[in-house]
Amino acid sequence: MKKVFVIFLSVVLLFSAISIVVPATVTTAAAANTSSGGFVESFTGKLQQAIRAFFDWLLSLFRKGPSPSPEIEVDEPTSLPPTQTEDPTSATQTTTESTVICDSEPSSDNTSTTGEEQTLPDSQTLVFQPNWEYASFSAIHTDSVKLYYSKATPRKNKTVCVNAGHGTKDGDQQFTLCHPDGSPKVTGGSTAAGATQATAVSGGTTFLDGTPEAEATLSLALLVKEKLLAAGYDVLMIREDDDAQLDNIARTVFANNCADCHIALHYDSSTNDKGLFYCGVPNVASYRNMEPVKSHFEAHTALGEALLQGARDAGIKVYSSGRVDIDLTQTSYSTVPSVDLEVGDRASDHGATQQGKIADGIVRGVNAFFG
Ligand SMILES: [Zn+2]
Repeated sequence: MKKVFVIFLSVVLLFSAISIVVPATVTTAAAANTSSGGFVESFTGKLQQAIRAFFDWLLSLFRKGPSPSPEIEVDEPTSLPPTQTEDPTSATQTTTESTVICDSEPSSDNTSTTGEEQTLPDSQTLVFQPNWEYASFSAIHTDSVKLYYSKATPRKNKTVCVNAGHGTKDGDQQFTLCHPDGSPKVTGGSTAAGATQATAVSGGTTFLDGTPEAEATLSLALLVKEKLLAAGYDVLMIREDDDAQLDNIARTVFANNCADCHIALHYDSSTNDKGLFYCGVPNVASYRNMEPVKSHFEAHTALGEALLQGARDAGIKVYSSGRVDIDLTQTSYSTVPSVDLEVGDRASDHGATQQGKIADGIVRGVNAFFG
């Protein structure tokens, strides 16, 4: 805060100096009516250059951030809205200044007690917290997410993050680091191997019938949400309409802090309806030795395999072994069991019946994973 005040004071002083010096110089030169017009022009030109240089320096102070990527912007915590609940009259709002609690159980402030029974709210809105681990690597995180509480009995006391892939307007106009340590990608994918930066969120593919991938992942996510809630799981929904201003890192950071596992839903770009698969963590030593991959890749695999089994049990066609190893931004930043599930491709049936089957498979997989 002190630095901002000093900068502000410098600007005020500089403007004061300019407002006095420039008119005085011009007036003196005009009054003298000499050939000093050239001198005045040269002097004011130099002054302008100096002012420009000063502002460049001033801007450079604000540009500096924790990430080496110039495209990554870090929001000031004070610019963020507070956490809100569905019913503002029955809940205490938590500001971003307080310690953020993203347990699967809502805080006592949001729970009304009737005798022995507690009544859960339907949902709670959660706001991105800049102090979360890896939050500073995100470029797009102005939207909030919703945590839905299961009313089923018994409750599982587990929160599943359901991330409908893509659906971020202009998400491909910004870039984020593929890995938190700045190292290059070890496999290809939508971003080539060797790249250190990827689009913050890509636009996704388009089905052969013209449907955008983001539309199909959303309808599937909404089905998965209802089925998980009915099965007793709380559900963290990353996106519930056609535009969520949250990049892949922000989505992952939300899941890390507010969920027990993270399932991102996608359709692949192939056109032969080859079947469902999950993206496994590549068996590359440098990648598996990088945190947070090192501490979590086995959990990602366990979740992926559970979802695969769930899909098979639900009668979903599975591609080959059901696993394709890809170095993804999602798993490069995940600290909870996390999987990118490609449920089909551009030629696949994405109607409600087929998506209902896929959603059943996902619930089976989640049940198997949490045992
Ligand atoms: Zn996708």
